[in-house]
Amino acid sequence: MQVAPGVHHFTGYKFNWYIVEEGDRLTVIDAGFPSHFRLFERGLESLGRAISDVEAIIITHAHADHTGFAARLSAASGAPIHVHEGDVPLVRRPLYLPWTGLLSRAWRPYTASMLSHAIGNGLLRLTTIPAPRPMRDADELDAPGRPRILHVPGHTPGDVAVHLPARGVLFSGDAMVTRNLYTGRDGGPQLTSRTLNGDFEQARRSLDRLADLGPVVLLPGHGRPWVGDTRDAVAANLPAARR
Ligand SMILES: [Zn+2]
Repeated sequence: MQVAPGVHHFTGYKFNWYIVEEGDRLTVIDAGFPSHFRLFERGLESLGRAISDVEAIIITHAHADHTGFAARLSAASGAPIHVHEGDVPLVRRPLYLPWTGLLSRAWRPYTASMLSHAIGNGLLRLTTIPAPRPMRDADELDAPGRPRILHVPGHTPGDVAVHLPARGVLFSGDAMVTRNLYTGRDGGPQLTSRTLNGDFEQARRSLDRLADLGPVVLLPGHGRPWVGDTRDAVAANLPAARR
């Protein structure tokens, strides 16, 4: 589904990834689970593109539901995998996930279905990412779409959002999602639940980094696209005293 000019949204079950086109060159944002690679290939075909058109892969953070087929795609395309320097050590630990939160809510049908989908789609076969290319805050990558990197730590130490200023697009990863990952309920832009964050208060403070981007199509790691001003998205998630 095209969600902004040259920006396409794909979902493997409940897990999103995106393709950005610039001419016939592509940037891929996030990479589902390993078995989603086939879906990814089908998505590419639907755009009339080939694996060799992929020039860059950006991982918003080192959780397994975002790194899944990145290594395979990188090997097949030759594209580098960009990861924030704060998460570089974590992509060497493929089973790195907020297990305490996930397991404490595994009784919830939505969370249970995510976990079983994860296991059925390669969670336990996940490989490490070879030679991740470290990113820093405010980097502007020489990659299709000219992605600008915004460091928004909290969900993980090296969590990033990816801004395409010229297209008014913000890939928010899991710094802001539009679906509650415990209940499956869709809503407006929201932080993930407290127990899914390495540091929830830091995640909340990081929202300041996103507040002044203006009107965007916000494309989250989980849930549907949202259109609006980032100031409103952020304000809805601040403690009442700061709104
Ligand atoms: Zn996620």
